[in-house]
Amino acid sequence: MSEKVPYIIAGPCSVESRSQLSEAVAALTAMPQVSMIRCGVWKPRTRPGGFEGWGEEALVWVRELREEMKIRKEMPFCCEVAKPEHVEKAIKYGMDAVWIGARTTANPFMVQELTEALRGTGLAVLVKNAPSPDVRLWIGALERCMQVGIKDVKAVHRGFDVFKNDKYRNNPLWEIPIELRRRMPEVPILCDPSHIAGRKKLLLMLAQTAMDLGFEGLMVESHPNPAEALTDAEQQVTPEELGEMLGQLVLRSTDSRKADEELRVLREQIDHLDRQTLQILAARFEVSKQIARVKAKDNLAVFQPKRWDSLLQQRMDTARELGLREEFVKEMYEKIHAESVRVQTEYTDSLKESNNQ
Ligand code: PEP
Ligand code: MN
Repeated sequence: MSEKVPYIIAGPCSVESRSQLSEAVAALTAMPQVSMIRCGVWKPRTRPGGFEGWGEEALVWVRELREEMKIRKEMPFCCEVAKPEHVEKAIKYGMDAVWIGARTTANPFMVQELTEALRGTGLAVLVKNAPSPDVRLWIGALERCMQVGIKDVKAVHRGFDVFKNDKYRNNPLWEIPIELRRRMPEVPILCDPSHIAGRKKLLLMLAQTAMDLGFEGLMVESHPNPAEALTDAEQQVTPEELGEMLGQLVLRSTDSRKADEELRVLREQIDHLDRQTLQILAARFEVSKQIARVKAKDNLAVFQPKRWDSLLQQRMDTARELGLREEFVKEMYEKIHAESVRVQTEYTDSLKESNNQ
């Protein structure tokens, strides 16, 4: 039984200097697990004033280093492109692949221009998801790549915008790449745990989830000295740390009994979705308690028949829209509502008790 070997893209968020690049490239190309080097040369910064990359100058360093260093011949390099002019430069300096960044995927006009520039070049293209949780924008960009005849197209899951950066810098919302897999099963999906996590600590857990969900690989930011990085310092790991992390990943097998493997991947997806379902239910019952508090204040009955009727009607409309069997949804809501009434009654009683004490 052999393990499915993940496709690993690693490299600095940004090329900062010739020496930083050569240190990173020397270490990463010596790692047998690394399949491609990433190196950002044009950096999309959300706000002006930050380091925006050295552009063409950095591409010159990349080309020179590849010629000077004895790098494995088959080691490809990639950088981000956001304009047709970037594509021309990437080709001029011998890049093998490019990635379309999250902010660009969100703009179909730009994606169209980029894919026109990529037509017939033979470059591989990686498409990051747009920052908004809209799987159609991601699919649209992948389709535009395919329409111009790009043969090697991969999707990169880098998470979705959050208002406050608490646990994640970008929320993974695994259901979105899962939906992409369902709708475009032929497209390999890589996970970019660096931009999801925003800090080193969560990288391994995210990378493992991606492996468990059957993703084909990872794109990880790696810098020889992350603390000094000009961009994304908190999330970059040294090549050594990357090696340790990859060593800890539990890789799943590519069994010849293909159905077993497919079932395992699908069951992992079900486990994730069920966890989310229960988290949503838990959040719903917390809101029920807040409602109980308001009702208790105004001395209103816990059970409000009018509200229950209209809620059920609305849920039935949503069920129809989503193609769910109405009878099933009705029974499910009767159970949820009964539990909500129980939670509210218990909560109201506990409020009374604490007021009486
Ligand atoms: C990057 O990979 O460095 C980058 C800017 O990523 P994203 O487009 O996912 O924000
Ligand atoms: Mn980055």
